[in-house]
Amino acid sequence: MNFNYVCSECSQTYDIRPELMVCPACADHQEKDQPLRGVLEVELSGKALPDFETFDLLPVDRPFFPPIPVGNTPLWEPRNLRTELGFDNLYIKDDGSNPTSSFKDRASFLVSAFAAQHYINEIVLASTGNAGSSMAGVGAAAGQKITLFLPKTAPKAKLIQALQYGATVYRVDGTYDDAFDLSMAYSRRFGGMSRNTAYNPMTIEGKKTVSLEVYQQLGGKVPDWVFLSTGDGCILSGVYKGFRDLFSLGIADKVPTIVSVQAEGSDALFRASQTGKFERLPTQSIADSICVDVPRNGFHALHQLQTYQGQVITVSDDDILTAQARLSASSGLFTEPAGATAFAGFVSMIDRLPSKDCIVILATGNGLKDTPTAGQGVSVSENVITSIDDI
Ligand SMILES: *Cc1c(COP(=O)(O)O)cnc(C)c1O
Repeated sequence: MNFNYVCSECSQTYDIRPELMVCPACADHQEKDQPLRGVLEVELSGKALPDFETFDLLPVDRPFFPPIPVGNTPLWEPRNLRTELGFDNLYIKDDGSNPTSSFKDRASFLVSAFAAQHYINEIVLASTGNAGSSMAGVGAAAGQKITLFLPKTAPKAKLIQALQYGATVYRVDGTYDDAFDLSMAYSRRFGGMSRNTAYNPMTIEGKKTVSLEVYQQLGGKVPDWVFLSTGDGCILSGVYKGFRDLFSLGIADKVPTIVSVQAEGSDALFRASQTGKFERLPTQSIADSICVDVPRNGFHALHQLQTYQGQVITVSDDDILTAQARLSASSGLFTEPAGATAFAGFVSMIDRLPSKDCIVILATGNGLKDTPTAGQGVSVSENVITSIDDI
């Protein structure tokens, strides 16, 4: 298999090298408060068979990957939900079962391997929480130094997780967007490889592995629909990338319809899909992992949605809390609010979906990552009991 970079905007191709993060020509037109210009995609060419191994479709050689079991997450067949909702071919991909309990491990795993291949021992990033704790955990397995910029509002569990893994954490008095700017300034001054989402092309490329797994877990089939939640839009592009790779290799016969679900209070991609423009507005949602003012991968994500007739919809925080508790109680899968957002989007569209279609919902993070928010979706009794007669 051969790999190179191709600019998602101008189609210029480049050799893969660690200093190159975005297309220099397009990055010249970068405007403030706008998504990244010149996001690079990995392009692959060669031959593969339907029983391919995921590692063979990735642009870093296998020995460089850290010793931590990322990916190969289970694809659930939620029996009760299938019956309740009337969808016999409903599946949930449980990416909260990754080593650091979120989907972000897929990106961290490839970035770590890429850095190792180029003898770079420090990785720097900004995160709303999951990318940081993920990179910290994967970096711990690899023996790499991880420097993380985290907004002070990040859920406590994610901060503690990153510290447990031994990352250097700078808590930022500001938003994720402020943390992003600080992390870029740090890499410029002190070096290290940036793992900022969308900026490092390996983030999108690593996330494609979920599609390769889903294809194989379904017995060599592309689902009709994939529901996922969107903040920066990298999971969105990663999922497309995986199916597009399979299609271009002649393995898959189509690309699924992807539905990107955003929180009403953080809906930059949704608004751009209506107006054609990204506008920076302050964001607020209980789904902290998808709360971003400027979706870093916005241009690329929007372009993919338009090319493949994907959809972007929004749900309210109340919908998310309801969906989270329903998913937990009906299936046994407890996912964090940003994970439940995808399920909430599916529920909101049920009337418009053919009930025989094959539908995959990505549950992107474990519910234990943010229990204070999940607590709002259940009632915790103030009464404590001492005897069975108190019941
Ligand atoms: C990061 C994240 C998302 C959204 O991914 P983007 O690439 O930012 O769109 C969704 N769910 C969880 C749990 C996440 O951590």
